[in-house]
Amino acid sequence: MSDTIEKVKCLIIGSGPAGYTAAIYAARANMSPVLYQGTQPGGQLTTTNEVENFPGYPDGITGPEMMMQLQAQAQRFEADIRDGWITKVDFSGDVHKVWVNEEKEIHCDTVIISTGASAKYLGLDSEQKYLKLGGGVSACAVCDGFFYRNQEVVIVGAGDSACEEAHYLSKLCKKVTMLVRRDEFRASKIMATRVKNTENIEILFNTETDEVLGDGQVVTGVRVVNNKTNEKHDIEATGFFVAIGHKPNTDIFKGFLELDETGYIINTPGTSKTNIEGVFVSGDAADHVYRQAVTAAGTGCMAALDAERYLAAKDSTFEVSTSSYN
Ligand SMILES: Cc1cc2nc3c(=O)[nH]c(=O)nc-3n(C[C@H](O)[C@H](O)[C@H](O)COP(=O)(O)OP(=O)(O)OC[C@H]3O[C@@H](n4cnc5c(N)ncnc54)[C@H](O)[C@@H]3O)c2cc1C
Repeated sequence: MSDTIEKVKCLIIGSGPAGYTAAIYAARANMSPVLYQGTQPGGQLTTTNEVENFPGYPDGITGPEMMMQLQAQAQRFEADIRDGWITKVDFSGDVHKVWVNEEKEIHCDTVIISTGASAKYLGLDSEQKYLKLGGGVSACAVCDGFFYRNQEVVIVGAGDSACEEAHYLSKLCKKVTMLVRRDEFRASKIMATRVKNTENIEILFNTETDEVLGDGQVVTGVRVVNNKTNEKHDIEATGFFVAIGHKPNTDIFKGFLELDETGYIINTPGTSKTNIEGVFVSGDAADHVYRQAVTAAGTGCMAALDAERYLAAKDSTFEVSTSSYN
């Protein structure tokens, strides 16, 4: 344990688009934010080559480059960006306590949680290989579907999100093959029916991925196996989409914050407020619907403004800054 406890007005956990946007707004509002980056500085976008849908980049930009620019923008206003992983919190008292790397203790007036949600993958070696190569494996149809226009793709999953993503892909791709492990969907009837009624979606029930096939650089197909008959066959495809859910990075907040059954932090609708005063949430950690960089950035802005107003209401000497609007 460290013997000196640091006091911080605004602590931001996470360095994705939500965290950095919160840092930009909080820094410009004189809140002297301290941001811990975690083990993935820059967040999920650092794992993608092309971001074409974030406003302001008409020619697109790589994920790592975009996140470096967001970091530089936050640092321009003197946000204190640090390495470190938040290992424990205690939100039970008036002062919000946070521990970094199990050692350093920080007492915070406000905390903004921007820890994101990680996509789940099947874990096959071939899937991970082409994911890392950026060669045709994706967990986000809205992000990457556009790159597969008029091509044939395979999607794995059986829930509402999988159906939503399969339907989204069907509007861009020539053919979508959907692999469903059981003999029925987990999705709601309305979503399943929509998929079943879409002409260019073929659904293979009782079917699992045996291997993602490729030429060493990019995906060329998927070997599937029928789990009733054990028969295998290959499907030609240039894209392999995994839609089997996300895991919000919120384990350390259990017991303090209200989480839904998947672990997403529950916020007061239309705000970034959690059930604990002075603790705010932004980005994918609270968003199981949109999960986009621009929505994460938008809610990062909301969290900083909510934190600023909370501080102003608590402490009459802290003036609500107008800088956020300049
Ligand atoms: C391959 C891929 C491609 C994508 N492409 C696009 C795209 O083209 N367009 C688009 O809009 N969206 C895209 N997305 C989605 C987008 O990346 C996310 O919606 C967005 O990054 C969410 O931002 P966030 O700030 O909420 O969290 P994240 O970006 O997930 O960042 C979470 C941050 O929290 C940190 N963290 C977590 N736990 C802790 C802890 N305990 N202590 C300290 N730090 C912690 C991590 O280190 C990380 O920095 C893509 C996602 C993926 C995976």
